[in-house]
Amino acid sequence: MSLRIAPAARCPGAPVPGPDAAHRAAASRAHPRSHLTRRLALPALLALACGAVLSAAAPERGPAGGPEVIRGEDFLVVGYGADSALVRDIATRVGPATRQVTEVWGSARPAVVLVPSSERMAGLIAGAAVLDGLAAVATVDRVVVNPRLFARLTATGRDVVLAHELTHVATGAAVSGMPIWLVEGFADYVGYRDAGLPAWEAAAELAQEVREGAVPYRLPERADFRPGAPRLAQVYAESWLACALLAARFGEDALVRLYRDAERRGIDAALSKLGMTVTGLTAEWRVYVRDTLA
Ligand SMILES: [Zn+2]
Repeated sequence: MSLRIAPAARCPGAPVPGPDAAHRAAASRAHPRSHLTRRLALPALLALACGAVLSAAAPERGPAGGPEVIRGEDFLVVGYGADSALVRDIATRVGPATRQVTEVWGSARPAVVLVPSSERMAGLIAGAAVLDGLAAVATVDRVVVNPRLFARLTATGRDVVLAHELTHVATGAAVSGMPIWLVEGFADYVGYRDAGLPAWEAAAELAQEVREGAVPYRLPERADFRPGAPRLAQVYAESWLACALLAARFGEDALVRLYRDAERRGIDAALSKLGMTVTGLTAEWRVYVRDTLA
């Protein structure tokens, strides 16, 4: 996909969140370990849907008030009292997002995407205490969309978020004990792979820090993703760039093998197969971040 952001495509007169609002949304998002999440932080991915809804297969309707179900070849989208246009739009995107995951990971689980009527319902379905600031949540076997925030994403943002969450589902990330930079970075790597966004735009918050001379000195750790952490957008970007570096240097297949190896044998053993250590990777990554974003 090569969809690009169209900043002018915001609904006139509607309350468009600026970078500060987006940053606050990022800072307040939760990231419970068992519910891996994709941030809404990126201003580049934020927009207000203006009714530009893509066509989709006609949904199956249950009894009045029942779920709205759209079946695809390799996915199922279920709306529970959700805006039908949003459910249809998501249904047009899940198939390509699933194929994107398959292209990189080698396989993807048949996608089940739930679209409830409200943020509160999304939280209840996902079993997450807080969904504020989250566009979607991945559990072990499904993606739960937060309709309030997902609807505000651009077309590219929706594709990135779905591919990110479906990567978590495919890789079993919700039950993984791997380094968080690899889990989130890999999901972002898949999400952004074909998005056509330049790094400075996808990693806008981190790029600003780097331009001001602040280059991160270590790979993100789990605590950096805690709810309310002040640099959530940046640590997602840092994680993404760590995986982008590995893919650029060793190839995408090697990145996938590293992910699988790290799951089985730990990150140190996985990196050693590439002749690397965490310390060595960190040093190379700092240079890569600076050169990519400065
Ligand atoms: Zn995630």
